[in-house]
Amino acid sequence: MRAALWYGRRDVRIVDIAEPAIAPGKVKIRVVWCGICGTDLHEYAAGPIFIPVTPHPLTGQQAPVVLGHEFSGDVIEIGAGVTSVEVGDRVCVEPIISCGRCAACAIGKYNLCRSIAFHGISSPDGGAFAEITMADERMVHRIPDSMSYEQAAIVEPAAMVVHAIRSSRFRVGDRVAVFGAGPIGLLIVQAARASGANGIFVVETSAVRREHALRMGASIVIDPTREDAAAVIAEETGGGVEVAFEATGAKQALSTAIAGTKFGGQVVVVSVWEGDATIQPNQFVFNEKTMIGILGNCNNFPETISLISSGVLGVDSMITRRIGLDDLVSDGFDALLGATKEHVKILVSPS
Ligand SMILES: [Zn+2]
Ligand SMILES: [Zn+2]
Repeated sequence: MRAALWYGRRDVRIVDIAEPAIAPGKVKIRVVWCGICGTDLHEYAAGPIFIPVTPHPLTGQQAPVVLGHEFSGDVIEIGAGVTSVEVGDRVCVEPIISCGRCAACAIGKYNLCRSIAFHGISSPDGGAFAEITMADERMVHRIPDSMSYEQAAIVEPAAMVVHAIRSSRFRVGDRVAVFGAGPIGLLIVQAARASGANGIFVVETSAVRREHALRMGASIVIDPTREDAAAVIAEETGGGVEVAFEATGAKQALSTAIAGTKFGGQVVVVSVWEGDATIQPNQFVFNEKTMIGILGNCNNFPETISLISSGVLGVDSMITRRIGLDDLVSDGFDALLGATKEHVKILVSPS
């Protein structure tokens, strides 16, 4: 079967590999759509970040690895002992692989597993930029008939956003700022609006993405290359937002997010970083602000599926391009990394 393998930075190849062989407890899936995630872009442009180059402690995997973890498809085979899904079911998959034994796993926080691995990064079952992939039964979720495969490919990033909002100090009536209007930022805008935000500021350099943000419920969009975003937010809110979400992984955005948050407020970092950032601790000390980080999702796929299928989170307009696997690098990665940032979510059809 055809699959996209990460060999190294700026070296992703579409090659023929063997189909994964079914095993007890596993579910084999024919991939219909797999979205390109910011994580894939980080690995392509600046990796390895999560991709193991020596054997992964939990899975034993190392590069080259099959990429792709935001996906939907059809169950085509089930392993011995699998009871919750059947051949023919339409599904999406939580891309987290956890040990089940560490301190984090012991309290159900499998997204913080001390030896965490990810589908499409360090999984023994491959990734979803491939015609066929496989996953553990408990990570496979059926989707309702009313939900499209395209929508189902967005469940994973949406589940991360639901996890971020629920983990934050955000309360109905709060003002929020969102830094970065890529797929994660736009989902945060929608989730914050649905949760009763009393004003949503979006800071984004791309004009196209600012337009998306306005359509999805942003109150004010700010181009940080033309305006002092922290000053605009402070002026409009009388001192800053209650909660700021940082979804860019850029140093300047993190600084502005901290500056644009009011005393007692919270900065929620949902981005993955390619390098270090600089923080002046007094910004937190003198204002009793807090900052938290968010990784992946945890125990919330079912409610995220229903938030999308009921339309609370509208994901269709975020899908701005659909491509085949052979065009993954040129029309996918390079397009998303380009200067214009005209695309939001690009879906890939491996078949
Ligand atoms: Zn992702
Ligand atoms: Zn664990």
